[in-house]
Amino acid sequence: MVREHIPQARTAHEPVRTCIGCRERAARSELLRIVAGTDSNGQPAVCPDPDRTAAGRGAHLHPTAECYELAVRRRAFSRALRAGAGLASASVRDYVDSSAFNRD
Ligand SMILES: [Zn+2]
Repeated sequence: MVREHIPQARTAHEPVRTCIGCRERAARSELLRIVAGTDSNGQPAVCPDPDRTAAGRGAHLHPTAECYELAVRRRAFSRALRAGAGLASASVRDYVDSSAFNRD
């Protein structure tokens, strides 16, 4: 069951991206950019890139627990980032949990 995301002040010229969790399209500013990077142990991991400054291939996700869970279940992180299976995504989970965007 996917709750609808309510568009907020979408402007005509704002780039639109697809959330890898719910697969809905949304203005880029509503989505969290994620990239393939490394965790604090130097292991390959999915990392949040809220400033959109990291180089390399990125993907986009609503910064909500439900879209995160959907992405995990679909193995969307590995697919979207062309990374190996089993990429750790705990740092994205932590970001979503503590995010001011998180509405529930
Ligand atoms: Zn979503």
